[in-house]
Amino acid sequence: ASEAEDKDLVIIGGGVAGYVAAIKAGQSGLKVACIEKRGSLGGTCLNVGCIPSKSLLNNSHLYHQILHDTKNRGIEVGDVKLNLGNMMKAKDTSVSGLTKGIEFLFKKNNVEYIKGTGAFKDEHTIAVNLIDGGETEVRAKNIFIATGSEATPFPGLTIDEKRVITSTGAIALQEVPKKMIVIGGGIIGLEMGSVWARLGAEVTVVEFMGQIGGPGMDAEIAKLTQKLLSKQGMKFKLNTKVTKGDDSSDVVSITTEAAKGGKEETLDADVVLVAIGRRPYTYGLGLDNIGLETDNRGRIEIDNEYRTKIPHIRSIGDVTFGPMLAHKAEEEGVAAVEYLTKGTGHVNYGAIPSVMYTHPEVAWVGQNEHELKAANVKYNVGSFPFSANSRAKTNLDTEGLVKFLSDAKTDRILGIHIVGPNAGEMIAEGTLAIEYGASSEDIARTSHAHPTLSEAFKEAAMATYDKAIHY
Ligand code: FAD
Ligand code: NAD
Repeated sequence: ASEAEDKDLVIIGGGVAGYVAAIKAGQSGLKVACIEKRGSLGGTCLNVGCIPSKSLLNNSHLYHQILHDTKNRGIEVGDVKLNLGNMMKAKDTSVSGLTKGIEFLFKKNNVEYIKGTGAFKDEHTIAVNLIDGGETEVRAKNIFIATGSEATPFPGLTIDEKRVITSTGAIALQEVPKKMIVIGGGIIGLEMGSVWARLGAEVTVVEFMGQIGGPGMDAEIAKLTQKLLSKQGMKFKLNTKVTKGDDSSDVVSITTEAAKGGKEETLDADVVLVAIGRRPYTYGLGLDNIGLETDNRGRIEIDNEYRTKIPHIRSIGDVTFGPMLAHKAEEEGVAAVEYLTKGTGHVNYGAIPSVMYTHPEVAWVGQNEHELKAANVKYNVGSFPFSANSRAKTNLDTEGLVKFLSDAKTDRILGIHIVGPNAGEMIAEGTLAIEYGASSEDIARTSHAHPTLSEAFKEAAMATYDKAIHY
């Protein structure tokens, strides 16, 4: 390509970070191209992450509910059967509709979509190995690296996505395993473990830490969640480290030991899900050709405007710092383009919600009790159980609670933690509250419609600075 054909911006990776940045750049009038190698847009999230997992979570919940939770609602059901093939088809339909939707948005916003694998040739040139064969080169004034992440493998186990699987295999199993072991009780382990437990597998989650859900989840909420998931049949081994795996025979076996050292145990399963985290993905990107290095965890280093040490090359999403979440990647996509076009951008990393889409859902934003204690912050706690909420009671869905943490002196909300029905939708209000620096009293004095689950949110706020009415 000649100098005259230079793009204003080329984005490597068409995941959430990359495609959002591409659309924003198109809307801002930049000449923009996005290079994606998987053959469809939307990255991990749309193709093998958020979307297919939520489809399976939703439909497996419905199946489980029809099996176990209809009689007391006055609904008599006959022969209930699982058609896993059709459940998978429903998932595929959601995925393809959404990924094609992004292609449409690219056209609408004048984004050039280049299907292939991009690698740096020099600081302004990307060589692209095209999916349909052949090669091309694109030159750009600015480049964003948005190449995402991949599942961290477990040493000694070979991922075949059939018997030893990552989340990618877990959204595509062709039959319900009898026994499934999940290595890692983080969000992937619990979401995908839930799916297969509901569909009939005997699921055991082995987690190194003393709590499920990862360190961001408030310990009280994690404990309650574990109790609720156990009631649904999931088994947990906490404070237990998987040290070895063996997939050489008919069953896959793993060896565990107590996290603090000690007794070894061997567990067998038909399927082992490796869910021990994800790592940034920069394989084959040619970072060496431009002298860019990654840190000790494989992340591309950036400043607070997403610039690498080569200022016209920026990086966003899972491949760089911060929580590996789609909505975080999306915020960065917009902000990085705004830094480019306007010189300013905005992401509040203190107000990024986390949601686990089990049933009940778990959602939180801001800090948890452990983090506040560690930072020596004095705080008030207010909580309200869904069992005292009228809508949860009418829905016969009363498990869980809302918990507020606010500054003991100023009442400013520092964290909100929910386990309960629709927690993932409800946390939006909490995120807005934190974004606007609200106090628990601000929420408590805001009218919430009756009868809604969100009244539990309001009453937890009331309980933080004063007393709840209904509990
Ligand atoms: P990715 O989505 O990984 O996209 C990067 C893209 O770059 C990929 O499509 C890849 O093919 C492409 N690429 C890489 N290298 C090259 C190259 N050299 N040339 C061209 N293309 C390249 N997050 C949530 O917020 N909510 C959820 O419910 C949720 N559920 C999840 C469930 C699962 C099972 C998994 C695995 C993840 C989930 N996540 C969820 C996390 C979410 O998927 C990621 O945070 C998000 O996809 C990150 O976006 P990204 O654009 O940074 O990276
Ligand atoms: P994670 O880091 O959340 O959890 C991994 C867990 O594995 C940790 O709790 C860790 O202690 C445990 N672990 C690690 N090694 C172990 C060992 N040898 N033995 C026993 N336990 C071990 O990672 P994940 O669940 O794989 O998820 C990866 C990323 O994907 C996360 O960043 C997550 O936020 C994102 N994701 C988000 C959603 C969502 O937002 N709903 C859904 C799925 C994935």
